[in-house]
Amino acid sequence: MAESEMKITFPNGDVHEFVRGITCLEVAKSISEGLARAAVAAKLDGVVVDLTRKIESDAKFEVIKFESKEGKDVFWHSSSHVMAKAILRLFPDAKLTIGPAIETGFYYDIDIGTPFTPEDLVKIEAEMGKIVKENEPFQRSEVSRSEAEKIINERLANPYKIELLKDVPEGEKISFYSLGKNFIDLCYGPHLPSSGKIKAFKLLNTSTAYWRGDAKNKALQRVYGVSFPEKKELDAHLKMLEDAAKRDHRKIGKDLGIFTFAEEVGMGLPLWLPKGEVLRHLLVEYMRKMEEEDGYVYVHSPSITRADLYYATGHLPYYKDSMYAPIEIDGMEYYLKPMNCPHHHMMFRTLAASYKDLPVRFAEAGDCFRHELSGTMHGLMRVRCFTQNDSHMYVTPAQLKKEVIGVARLFQRVYVDMGISDYSFRLSLPDFENNPGKYGGEEKKWADASEELRQALLELKVPFDEVKGEASFYGPKIDIQLKNVYGQEDTIATIQIDIMIPKRLNLTFVNEKGEKENVIIIHRAILGSYERFIAYLLEHYAGNLPFWLSPVQAIVLPIADRHTEGALKVVAALHSAGIRTEIDSSNQTLDYRIRNAQLAKIPYMLVVGDRELENNSVTARKRTGEVMKPMALDEFLEFARKKNDGKELEL
Ligand SMILES: [Zn+2]
Ligand SMILES: [Zn+2]
Repeated sequence: MAESEMKITFPNGDVHEFVRGITCLEVAKSISEGLARAAVAAKLDGVVVDLTRKIESDAKFEVIKFESKEGKDVFWHSSSHVMAKAILRLFPDAKLTIGPAIETGFYYDIDIGTPFTPEDLVKIEAEMGKIVKENEPFQRSEVSRSEAEKIINERLANPYKIELLKDVPEGEKISFYSLGKNFIDLCYGPHLPSSGKIKAFKLLNTSTAYWRGDAKNKALQRVYGVSFPEKKELDAHLKMLEDAAKRDHRKIGKDLGIFTFAEEVGMGLPLWLPKGEVLRHLLVEYMRKMEEEDGYVYVHSPSITRADLYYATGHLPYYKDSMYAPIEIDGMEYYLKPMNCPHHHMMFRTLAASYKDLPVRFAEAGDCFRHELSGTMHGLMRVRCFTQNDSHMYVTPAQLKKEVIGVARLFQRVYVDMGISDYSFRLSLPDFENNPGKYGGEEKKWADASEELRQALLELKVPFDEVKGEASFYGPKIDIQLKNVYGQEDTIATIQIDIMIPKRLNLTFVNEKGEKENVIIIHRAILGSYERFIAYLLEHYAGNLPFWLSPVQAIVLPIADRHTEGALKVVAALHSAGIRTEIDSSNQTLDYRIRNAQLAKIPYMLVVGDRELENNSVTARKRTGEVMKPMALDEFLEFARKKNDGKELEL
């Protein structure tokens, strides 16, 4: 091999020799022209870099395409630069702050004073179109700190970028990216080689954001957008967004009278309306029944607690930002409870358990309070006060696997009843190799617990992904990922092993040898918080909840006034059969009342007129519009009771 040559290893293991200084793009071209066209960035020894990056020494090489998460990050972040350039062309006084790629596209936060109007967005899109058409190159330059300050002060006159520059740790490279002429931004990169790759894009909406996410700072305008290499991909994405918007739980929750918010009550503090409370109560009672059948015992803990407990568990001071400010009572500090675990641990401590008493499974529909940032609030999905379907299980090391299997099986039964099957298991493990300082305690205990979880999943015969480095700081865990209506994964259910707290709080049991030994704790949530789960359910079913979960299951519609008395008897009969029933005897036409009931997504409408009263029968309509054959009232009661008890999903 000549001096000037180096070895590049491709993902399939093939090693090729190239001249030093060749760019990543040229290496991609050497594989195929098509691959080079599809490339948005490259990976050198595991680090994502620009395609224009020159390779100077032996390296592992990989092409990054839009389809991958890393590819989308590069593509979308580059799009945010294109948008920023367009905005500066139209609004030269605007000050750019940060413009990252996010899971669903990109945004840029801009200090501009007045909010952007929809017309502004149209103009910005048109300007972006020009920048894309001009196919302007992205160019990286690395500079010293003093040069960077000079560029920001003299060319950009932007105090935000000076602050961002201060965040760059000493010794780290400082880079700028220019986009064509007259645009330069402080940025780590990487970026696309040029703007021409962004063939299809759309600005979606704007909102107010705050510098550093802190409402005490200046209000900024955030513009969200999304982009794709092909127009047809954008079209499909916009269609998906349109469909998802119809399922938005905030809209459905309002239409169906499930929940509301009031400015006077406070942000992120939901008010459950009567129908919502029925649903919430149903789920709480359902989980309690399922859990008690599985040997859980319910407990209850208070909503405020002395600071001392959170210092003992280690939540203070580390978790302080997520907690509400302390309340002083009798010279002592109290906090609103952000999680139920510490309280359950205090209860377990009173038991003086022997191995024969374990496992202990405490469960609670526990209210928690967390200070979520105002910008992150989203209907019931992210709130500041919520009720968790929580449990803490105290087990011996020998019981761990069996208990984890028990939790997973309970999860499976519950989700069958909910009609939800689009989920996957993820085993989150520590990464001692790359991040040894992150995990406390003995490596052996971590390894043992991880292996027990893996064996549990294998025994369950469910497919699962293993992710290194995703464990929590107190132990490995199994997350159950649900797909939301946007096609993204949400973690709602989780099974987390805790090998740290038992040691810290001295939570022990007496083992078979008569010695004290630390228990292992399983933190688990099947529905997560009732708030989030209900948001998820409303979106999953677009408000058409299964019969057993519908707040109102049937509505009786008397045809004329003279039928109301008889109709009330039908209502009473349904009530006795345990079916939640309403009557609509208003003066509106029957068609109008049927339409209203359909909009309220009530599963069954029972029309009662002369014939029905004479025969003691009902004619039922489903909310889908299907009319059932007339049947005797008793027959319908039996039919409905069976659907209810069997939690049947089909009407
Ligand atoms: Zn950038
Ligand atoms: Zn917990």
